[in-house]
Amino acid sequence: MNKSMNSAEMGKPKKWQDVPMGGIAFGASAEAVETGQWRSMRPVWDGEKCISCLLCWNQCPDRSILTDASGKVTGIDTFYCKGCGICAHLCPKKAIEMRPESEFTGPGAGAKGE
Ligand code: SF4
Ligand code: SF4
Repeated sequence: MNKSMNSAEMGKPKKWQDVPMGGIAFGASAEAVETGQWRSMRPVWDGEKCISCLLCWNQCPDRSILTDASGKVTGIDTFYCKGCGICAHLCPKKAIEMRPESEFTGPGAGAKGE
């Protein structure tokens, strides 16, 4: 069996046909994976302050801002949210606060009113 090469040994391919074939996991979908588990900071939304301007909804890279049928923001879906903080940074009403994930997952989780 040939020893497999690492990227330094392969060198720079001269044409695309020289690039080694990559692997694809057929049937896999990121939709079913709770990628929000990578998060270290959690956005906490305050419905009293929110004016549903949709700035956060428009800019969230993980489609995690929830809206109702009339287009009003109703909360944040933490299933995919990575805690990047873009929503909190953009919010003109300071209606989203980033808090350490450890407040929600460690001992006493949920004790802060979530
Ligand atoms: S940016 Fe702020 S005010 Fe605007 S919809 Fe999002 S949470 Fe509400
Ligand atoms: S923290 Fe980032 S990923 Fe999470 S809801 Fe806000 S913008 Fe989206």
